[in-house]
Amino acid sequence: MTFSDRLIPLRQRIDIACQRAKRDPNSVRLVAVSKLKPASAIVEARAVGQELFGESYVQEFLGKYEEISPSPHWHFIGALQSNKVKYLKGKVDLIHSVDRLSLAQEIARQWRDQATSANILLQVNVGGEVSKSGCAPDELISLVQKIALLPKLHVRGLMTLPPWSEDPEEVRPYFRKLRQLADEVSALGLANVTMEELSMGMSDDFEVAIEEGATLIRVGTALFGRR
Ligand SMILES: *Cc1c(COP(=O)(O)O)cnc(C)c1O
Repeated sequence: MTFSDRLIPLRQRIDIACQRAKRDPNSVRLVAVSKLKPASAIVEARAVGQELFGESYVQEFLGKYEEISPSPHWHFIGALQSNKVKYLKGKVDLIHSVDRLSLAQEIARQWRDQATSANILLQVNVGGEVSKSGCAPDELISLVQKIALLPKLHVRGLMTLPPWSEDPEEVRPYFRKLRQLADEVSALGLANVTMEELSMGMSDDFEVAIEEGATLIRVGTALFGRR
């Protein structure tokens, strides 16, 4: 199966979910998660118009970044160690996985000589799973208040990786929770904090995520096949 064979039906499913939710399909962006797939898979995807990719591992991302020219748009979606932030500077449009103050501080420090602010999302562990990264829901407000004071950062929204379930309906409450948290943050009216992005939904549950307000869906397997 080619990328295009998977992209066309996926786009149709996105459109149908948008219709159900009475949303403009242009309000949902597809992040093609290319982790563990070769640069050639990204080149194939670009040939049919996919220009936004999500990567999870810094070393792997750097290899592809060097290899693929001109550069597509990149989002970093994986767990991020502070000592690797420097490698992302100037290369990614959005970091989805900021879950602690120390990481935000390091991003602000690395971006200090950049013309524009780093765009970040705050990752929230809505399911409270010990195995997952993300800040606890009840710590989000205090975290965002501290991050808002840092220079060179723009908090664009929230991201979550909910508990896995075979039934996407079981995941719906977590997506809804993320949206409620975004509303709470938005109501604070903090400088450099805007809640226009909700990064939620993957191959198995993106339709439910769209119904609950996702603006960025992160889809890997359904586009590139199994990893
Ligand atoms: C791998 C990954 C995805 C994509 O998952 P699929 O089930 O393959 O669509 C999405 N988000 C994050 C954070 C990931 O690490």
